Amino acid sequence: MTTTRTPLIAGNWKMNGTREEARGWAAAAAEALTGSTNDAAVFPPDAWLCDVAEVLASAGGAVALGGQSCCWEPKGAFTGATSAAMLAEVGCRYVLCGHSERRHVFGESDADVAGSMAQALAAGLTPVLCVGETIEEREAGRTQEVLLTQVDAGLGALRGADDPLVIAYEPVWAIGTGKAATPTEAAEAHAWIRARVAETDAERAERVRILYGGSVNPDNIGGFLDVPDVDGALIGGAALDPVKFGLMIRHASTGA
Ligand code: PEP
Repeated sequence: MTTTRTPLIAGNWKMNGTREEARGWAAAAAEALTGSTNDAAVFPPDAWLCDVAEVLASAGGAVALGGQSCCWEPKGAFTGATSAAMLAEVGCRYVLCGHSERRHVFGESDADVAGSMAQALAAGLTPVLCVGETIEEREAGRTQEVLLTQVDAGLGALRGADDPLVIAYEPVWAIGTGKAATPTEAAEAHAWIRARVAETDAERAERVRILYGGSVNPDNIGGFLDVPDVDGALIGGAALDPVKFGLMIRHASTGA
């Protein structure tokens, strides 16, 4: 890292874990963060948010809590959905907006993602805007176009220069496949994204944290965190192993 942006190491648990496991993983993350100069966050399933909030608070509150998704409407007849205000009320600081599985499994559009971001901001949450290209889009040479379209849609939800934001570059083909992007591929994508943010707000571009996500593990995280434009990692599968996740929470700060 050559910048002053504090790396954020985030674990997306997706639809995994029992209630007891979730409490244990949260406690382990809090312990791992002790003595680390990184930031850390966990994104449990909604059902375990209150449990995890309690565990994190009693461990000192250093590990942030996040929701995996929020609805683009504030409330109402949206069976199965969770509002941003609900996430805020149970202690979330972050919410993922437009995670690849929300886009490609649940069919969320850029407009839906922008709506979720608007709700997140209105509720006082920091949206983590997730963007990424499919393998077909990459092979067709459309990666930059796809990423910038998704970034533009998300940036359109911001109300002003003070709105908080994190961006995660997660190539769809790298998520859950064991085939991570190379640090060079991540560097190129992150540079495009930061430059796009700079077109409308140069100060935001300097401070916004852009995470890499996609098959990150303790063996490859160092290669990503060494890239100047990579400010942390969004981790799925490897975050379900508290030992591995703990190593990654500590990794960036030690450079080990
Ligand atoms: C994710 O879910 O955001 C993710 C990056 O998953 P994985 O680390 O398993 O590829």
